[in-house]
Amino acid sequence: MRLVLVGPPGAGKGTQAEFIAAHLAVPKISTGDILRANVSQGTALGREAKRYMDAGDLVPDKIVINMVRDRLAEPDATDGFLLDGFPRTVPQAQELDSMLADLGVGLDLVLELIVDDDEVIRRLSGRRTCRGCGKIWHMEFDPPTHPDVCDRCGGELFQRDDDRPETIANRLREYADKTAPLIDFYGAQGKLVGIDATGPVEDVTVRAIDALRSYGG
Ligand code: ADP
Ligand code: AMP
Repeated sequence: MRLVLVGPPGAGKGTQAEFIAAHLAVPKISTGDILRANVSQGTALGREAKRYMDAGDLVPDKIVINMVRDRLAEPDATDGFLLDGFPRTVPQAQELDSMLADLGVGLDLVLELIVDDDEVIRRLSGRRTCRGCGKIWHMEFDPPTHPDVCDRCGGELFQRDDDRPETIANRLREYADKTAPLIDFYGAQGKLVGIDATGPVEDVTVRAIDALRSYGG
């Protein structure tokens, strides 16, 4: 299955992506994770992307599109994938359609995680991520036993630079201006299904998998 997760920053895309990708047995492709790996390795791409990410702006389409084109060409993505955080603009979505058309395939479904702004702010403010295994924690909603240590792998937990209050506000503006138009874009293609992404993580996963099942996933 070829699936896209869409929703505001903090909606729970990364959290749900892990479960949904395992359920579908497809790779999870997160452009945020790929960009952060480039930033921490100090690559040219990472140095270019960092200033946009730190400001809470979207990284320019050209950079992200080339990155995704390369990733989708890897063998594990041939039979399906779950995209988390891409596309985030209409030009990215158009480019994705044309990349897939060149391969003779298309997206099966776009799953929208619906959460209001107040909840998103609560979720982003308490988010912690493991440097070792990438597991996403929350200091209030899914707290680790020790504030700095991942219970899954013992790795160090960190707070993302872009989860500061002033950056969060800009990311929400970017979402409303540039990403929310994808809802109409995919709605018009008949590929959009929205689910309520509030409540316990496990409940959201059940709603997501039910939605996929009704579309053959
Ligand atoms: P996104 O990838 O959409 O930015 P994340 O998956 O990183 O969002 O989730 C943002 C924060 O919210 C994380 O700290 C995560 O632990 C927490 N979170 C995710 N889903 C839920 C939920 N259903 N209820 C409460 N907190 C959640
Ligand atoms: P995320 O981990 O998905 O919250 O992404 C973190 C940051 O990476 C975003 O705020 C953007 O600066 C950048 N980013 C991730 N994916 C994209 C994308 N598809 N287009 C542009 N910028 C992106």
